Amino acid sequence: MRAEKLDRPVPGFNDRERGELIHHALEHLWSELRNSAELLAISPAAQSQLVNESVARALANLSRVRDPGVRWQLRERTRMHGVLGKWLDVERLRAAFEVEHLEQGAPVARHAGLDFNVRIDRVDRLADGARVLIDYKSGAASPDWRDDRPDNPQLPIYALLQPDALVAVAYGRVNAGECRFIAETERVGVFKPGGRISQMEGMTSLAELVGVWSQRIERLAADFAAGRAEVAPTARACKSCHLQSLCRIPGALDEGAHLDE
Ligand code: SF4
Repeated sequence: MRAEKLDRPVPGFNDRERGELIHHALEHLWSELRNSAELLAISPAAQSQLVNESVARALANLSRVRDPGVRWQLRERTRMHGVLGKWLDVERLRAAFEVEHLEQGAPVARHAGLDFNVRIDRVDRLADGARVLIDYKSGAASPDWRDDRPDNPQLPIYALLQPDALVAVAYGRVNAGECRFIAETERVGVFKPGGRISQMEGMTSLAELVGVWSQRIERLAADFAAGRAEVAPTARACKSCHLQSLCRIPGALDEGAHLDE
């Protein structure tokens, strides 16, 4: 049916646009800073200037597509300045790193004969050459890549494209309410001092987990390619689905019926 979700009209920039603004601003910011040593050395005044410049570029880019007006641009500029300052404080806590790639248009990911266009926000190199993949989220974020039917297989697909020396994958939640990393990591202290190894779904290394992800993604893609589409949504999928007005299943959800949790 190709039913698309309609954007909800809101004053100023909407959530999607705010996400784009944060992505653009961070891309510029890290194209200038490049590594954790620069971040730790930058003065508060220079940081403020760099953040302002990054925000201004992001706003100028987006406003060429849709401009909600000067008043909203000024409000967004102030909001983003605060959020990005908080985010850089989170990045300051990390083990030493160098940004290797930004907003990398990767080769197409191919699973079960299907092509997936992906864009990895950032790849960092740690001091010993190990790699960390990061995807920014400006809204809610949780470890939704786990389990046999993940709600969001984005990080596993990225990891399968760049498995070499990979020790961690993470969402970077860049949000006024909370800035933090939500990660799968085989190393302590990658994202903050004393940070722990994640559960890795019971595996002993990220490489082992990437092997599990490979089989899982291949199976899901093969099911999709074969047209296998039993009505067996997870409860979480139905709650966030934009097709509820076209679908009978949420009624079953309300009755607490058989759907997977
Ligand atoms: S509401 Fe649930 S069953 Fe219906 S289309 Fe959305 S995810 Fe699928």
